[in-house]
Amino acid sequence: MVAAAHRVRRKPEHIQLIAVSKTFPAKAIREAYEAGQRIFGENRVQEFAAKAPQLADLSGIDLHMIGHLQSNKARKAVELFHAVDSLDSVRLGNQLNAAAGELGKIVPVLIEINTGGEAAKSGLLIDWTEIEPVLSAAPAWSNLQIRGLMTVPPFTEDPEGARPYFRNLRDLRDEIAGKKLPNISMDTLSMGMSHDFEAAIEEGSTQIRVGTAIFGERAKKKGGLQ
Ligand SMILES: *Cc1c(COP(=O)(O)O)cnc(C)c1O
Repeated sequence: MVAAAHRVRRKPEHIQLIAVSKTFPAKAIREAYEAGQRIFGENRVQEFAAKAPQLADLSGIDLHMIGHLQSNKARKAVELFHAVDSLDSVRLGNQLNAAAGELGKIVPVLIEINTGGEAAKSGLLIDWTEIEPVLSAAPAWSNLQIRGLMTVPPFTEDPEGARPYFRNLRDLRDEIAGKKLPNISMDTLSMGMSHDFEAAIEEGSTQIRVGTAIFGERAKKKGGLQ
């Protein structure tokens, strides 16, 4: 992270590391916490609900929901996580805002963008007809703070393949920031994973999400990606 930041004359302390602990047990999270890590990412509400009771004593831990979230799990997500990095519809925003209000929380959120336009991925397309309704709804979400954008680009063996998608996300961030909309700050660009975080940092990422490179390979589950 430091080397990548220095290559483009960025300050390493401007880039946060989310340790993606999905599929790993609570004790792996505890071990990373004891080593100084504070921000963790999980992609399933139910899976994390099972680990959460074992982590209740870890003060200052910052838990992010980074996976697709169904509206009916919004309340549970607001109970379990400090931030939701995968807002992908007005409906989900409405549910998160209502849940945050009921629980007396202010929840930072990122808008997820499907930069590659892939059918299998969630997130809004880089298309104003998809993005504008979310931006217009945001001022009414008094219990949410829109902090920026998140993406998972199409997978390519060569991490350089992700670079154009990272650039597109950064350009979109700049464009939205330029509109100076109420209740929307665009200080966070969440992009870059184990195999492409260096390119992401070079392209302006402020938050990388790394699982495999910290915890090791995840067991492959039948029937799809984890
Ligand atoms: C699993 C996951 C990651 C981490 O992926 P690695 O390749 O293991 O670093 C990052 N972001 C999201 C949204 C994920 O689901």
